[in-house]
Amino acid sequence: MAAHEGDSFWERQLLEEAAVPMAYRQDPLRVQGFYNARRRRLAALEPTAAHRALAQLEAAWPGDFLLVTANADDLHERAGSRALIHLFGELLKVRCTECHHAHPWAEDLDFSSCCPSCATLGQLRPHLVWYGEPPLEMERIHAALAQCTCFLALGTPGHLHPAVGFLEEVPPFARTLVLSAEPGAEPDGFQERRAGPALLRVPELVAELLAGLA
Ligand SMILES: [Zn+2]
Repeated sequence: MAAHEGDSFWERQLLEEAAVPMAYRQDPLRVQGFYNARRRRLAALEPTAAHRALAQLEAAWPGDFLLVTANADDLHERAGSRALIHLFGELLKVRCTECHHAHPWAEDLDFSSCCPSCATLGQLRPHLVWYGEPPLEMERIHAALAQCTCFLALGTPGHLHPAVGFLEEVPPFARTLVLSAEPGAEPDGFQERRAGPALLRVPELVAELLAGLA
């Protein structure tokens, strides 16, 4: 999560993820408002060359492909990615605490919002993984890792953290490569290590992988 200019002190506190579950218990409307504002800001964002390159890689990849992202925005989808898991949830979904179904949700959320599945009022919360809650779709991720032949870990140190754990589940014959946004922050254990801004390095890497497929 990145802090935005104009965030109040309280909002900055919420960006410390450990604060969210307690804040939600104490003042759920205020937490809803915080995520409503983040959801609205998505419309002003556009997919980058890195998002588009990953969608291009998925389209050209000859075998199964799965993109696991730590991002909660919808920029990968808008760039064209289809086989995609949001490990920590999605800003454009809500979940019912009564029936546990998740639903697409582009509007503001408050306690007059009604669950589309069970029609309960006031039990919808952001479909995001908060501190102390397990990441999503881990079974599907474990299954993909067990048959993985090419494992790429891309991102900032915070995003690489879950990926480094995934590395241990990749078969020994798989190609493994890490691309870190910060030089010197690449974790150990990968066959290939690179560093640099994702905006430049991800499209370069994808072009190289696509050339290797030709
Ligand atoms: Zn429900």
